[in-house]
Order: sequence, then C-alpha cells, then structure tokens
Amino acid sequence: MKSEFDDLIVDFSRFYILTILYEGPNHGYSILSRFRKRLGKEVSASLVYPFLKKLEEKGLVMHTDKPIGEKNRKIFELTEEGTLLCTRLFKRFDKLVSVAIEASLETCANCGCKVYEGGHREVIDGKEATFCCVHCAHSYKEELS
Ligand SMILES: [Zn+2]
Repeated sequence: MKSEFDDLIVDFSRFYILTILYEGPNHGYSILSRFRKRLGKEVSASLVYPFLKKLEEKGLVMHTDKPIGEKNRKIFELTEEGTLLCTRLFKRFDKLVSVAIEASLETCANCGCKVYEGGHREVIDGKEATFCCVHCAHSYKEELS
C-alpha cells in the first residue's frame, strides 16, 4: 500500500539526489553511498537509476563511461540546463526554509532585530521581554523611566 507520505519521501529522496549531483560528477554507486552516509538511511537503487535515466532523457543529466578495473562505470553529471534548474530549485527551497525560520524568531523589544539564538530575557513590569543583548534591555528600560 502506498500512501501520500511515501510519495513525499520519494520526492525528498529525489531532491536529495539532485543536491549530490549538484556537488559534481558522481557514479551511481557513490550517489547511493553518499545518500546513506549523510541521511543515515538507504535509498533504493531502483529509485536512483530510473530517476537518473529520466533526468538524462530530459537533458538535465549526462553520463560518461569510465573504465574502473574491468568494469565500465557510468559517471553522471548535471548538464548546464540541469545545473540551472537545481540552482532555481535550491533558491526556492532556501526561501521557504528561511521564511519558516524567520517566523519562529523573536524580535528584540528595543531595536527590532531578529534574535537568532540566545538573546537576553528580562521581566519588565511583570512582562517578559526579549532583547538581542543586555545593552538593548538597558536602553529599553532607560526609555521607559
Ligand atoms: Zn536589540
């Protein structure tokens, strides 16, 4: 039984394969092993190879044959078009991720800057306020008094 969740994971796997290709030419096996190493999970060869083939049909990936020992290994790399597509895709993702992060950030009650980590908290007039630093907390209190 396939669920929508499976489809999502499959898409994430494909996305991740693209990031590996984006780093440079790879043979199929090294895509599989990088995937496993970095994500700590297996990706099935029956997902990777057909996906590479599809990308190749669309002109986004090309391969060269390189003899390694007695075997010929296919080295896959992104074409110029494939690289462009990835750049666009990653930019879009980057935006999505930063929007999600921004939304969860607190702003300094004094200067209004985003507080990425830590920050300084103080209870003022019975209310907890967040500041980026002690100095901001200080000027905030100065202005109040
Ligand atoms: Zn501040």
